Amino acid sequence: MLATGCGGLVCLDGVYKEYSSRVGASVALDGVSAVFQTGLYMVVGPNGSGKSTLLRVIAGVTRPDRGRVVVDGRELWVDCSGDCLASLRRRVVGYVPQTLLLPATMRVMDAIALPLLLDGVEDWADRVEEVAGLLGADRFLGRKVGELSVGQRQLVAIARALVINPRILLLDEPLSHLDKDAMETVLDVITGFGKEKLIIIADTEKVRGVDFDSVYCMAKGRLKPC
Ligand code: ADP
Ligand code: MG
Repeated sequence: MLATGCGGLVCLDGVYKEYSSRVGASVALDGVSAVFQTGLYMVVGPNGSGKSTLLRVIAGVTRPDRGRVVVDGRELWVDCSGDCLASLRRRVVGYVPQTLLLPATMRVMDAIALPLLLDGVEDWADRVEEVAGLLGADRFLGRKVGELSVGQRQLVAIARALVINPRILLLDEPLSHLDKDAMETVLDVITGFGKEKLIIIADTEKVRGVDFDSVYCMAKGRLKPC
């Protein structure tokens, strides 16, 4: 598959990734091929099925052992590595990891603004306030990351991904620590985020009350429609 032959925003072709550890190798992605167009996608699978690895591979954070990953017309690690990958993550792909790793002493405002600051965007403060306001996270913009609850940190991670207005939004179990109100707010924001976007939500259960364009099931490193 040539990058130009990818008929979607994201194409995966025979993507394979295994991790080796003291106890042996575990296959996280076992030949995943898929085309993601614009729309709202759900990837459902049990713990350990490879969901997080899949999102990290699309985000260009994890390099697969084999296979091709085309994102927004560029084949990652071939046409796009180093600065190109960094710029993809700052401008095109909003990635919400399962666990947000940020220095505890960092101000929430700066944590959300990070991709904009790295990109030299000048009116970042307005944009941060706007996005945080949508998510109900504006109340703790002046606090430190380490002072927040896990659920509040999850909102910060989502705000940080949305702040760049990405064309591709990858959310790894984004609702797991949220209360009912926060969950509804987040789902409203995500589903209303834009028609010309690709949004992929990965979770262990199908998110209820959301009209997905496509639902995929992940099991033992394999991905198929379900
Ligand atoms: P999920 O998100 O569906 O729970 P993951 O992608 O996190 O699945 O993990 C898939 C498999 O890869 C699991 O068996 C997990 O133990 C293994 N794995 C994931 N990340 C690592 C890592 N950094 N080192 C070793 N094994 C890993
Ligand atoms: Mg996971």
